[in-house]
Amino acid sequence: MLNPPRPVTAISLAQPDTIRLPFPPPLSLYIHIPWCIKKCPYCDFNSHEEPQLAKGQSSLSASQIESHYAAYVDALVRDLEGSLTAVWGRTVQTVFIGGGTPSLCPPAQMARLLDAVRSLLKLSADAEITMEANPGSFERERFEAFAEAGVNRLSLGVQSFSDDCLRRIGRVHDARQAQDALDAAIRIFPRVNVDLMYGQPGQTLASLDHDLAMALQRAGSALSHLSIYQFTLEPNTFFAKHRPEAMPDEKLLESMQTLIDERLGSAGFQQYEVSAWSLPGQRCRHNLNYWQFGDYLGIGAGAHGKISDHRGIRRTTRQRRPFAYIDALTHKPEPQHAAERWLEPRDLPFEFMLNALRLKDGVASHWWQERCGLPAQVLVKQARRAIDKGLLDADPNLWRASDLGWRFLNDLQASFLHESP
Ligand code: SF4
Repeated sequence: MLNPPRPVTAISLAQPDTIRLPFPPPLSLYIHIPWCIKKCPYCDFNSHEEPQLAKGQSSLSASQIESHYAAYVDALVRDLEGSLTAVWGRTVQTVFIGGGTPSLCPPAQMARLLDAVRSLLKLSADAEITMEANPGSFERERFEAFAEAGVNRLSLGVQSFSDDCLRRIGRVHDARQAQDALDAAIRIFPRVNVDLMYGQPGQTLASLDHDLAMALQRAGSALSHLSIYQFTLEPNTFFAKHRPEAMPDEKLLESMQTLIDERLGSAGFQQYEVSAWSLPGQRCRHNLNYWQFGDYLGIGAGAHGKISDHRGIRRTTRQRRPFAYIDALTHKPEPQHAAERWLEPRDLPFEFMLNALRLKDGVASHWWQERCGLPAQVLVKQARRAIDKGLLDADPNLWRASDLGWRFLNDLQASFLHESP
């Protein structure tokens, strides 16, 4: 563990090399549940194949599966208890249970986990509580119990409504299951997000159009959010080593992006982030907090967090391997399950802009001082250069990518990287 930066003194106030936040930013909680029935060949998340944990695939009894998750929930609760001093007195605005496939967790254990969250933390009365789920029929049967446990927003990993596409990307569900799960989710949860992917191997424009139509014909007060990711070959995945056939070329990708803009735009969805679209007023509050450089406590195997206090801003990472995480929280002294890194002032322009510029509307310019605790002068040189190149809007009230900057977002974000002297 690194030492925190030197303490703030009266003399160091408003100095460009000292982080001093006027007040803590909004706070969220991320909980990671790391197991999946099967590892998808494109996936680079901290997810671990454990088919034994799903009904119908298991030589384990229901009570053995329950005990497995009970041990993990015990570890999560210990992790949370050990983290309380870092967020003492602060209200948690949103909770996101991600994975992995959290919907494999038995509902009784999910309820126990959310009860512990409510009793240990100050949760806002209207807290958004999202859970990720996959569309297998096994999971669909549990949606009502998850809603009763307190989940009020479901994020469903559909990826495609085409059996051919789903098979090519190695998903365990089929198109029928995706439709049934989505219909059940819309019936049960007040808010639903669907994840789709474009640019999949072998995917045609017509197939993507079908995927969009299947989602949009169900759009309404519940299905009010779509996350549409570009399929990419990530390092350290099966597909990185065994490149799938029929990857789309640049021209097809561009046509797909145009199609997405047209179809979602005419259905009343607004793109508010690189991959996120919503009906008015239905943005994902949890993800917005990441992009607006809010704080988040991250618990669970491999979970990342960002926590600010009077000493500065630190990023935290939990032990990545699930059983080592459980073990560390059961038998060993607390620090062994986590590592942390204090951010240096020179890291912050890039860290802040990497997130903020993903938002179509950008962020209020005064949030730089409020959420990074540094004076505006720290950003001025890099921002001026980006404005001169036409990549950043010259609006004194906003940090926002221009139309050109939106097209070359990686270049714009990289222009805020620290330059070696
Ligand atoms: S279901 Fe999701 S988290 Fe699990 S392996 Fe597939 S992409 Fe990764």
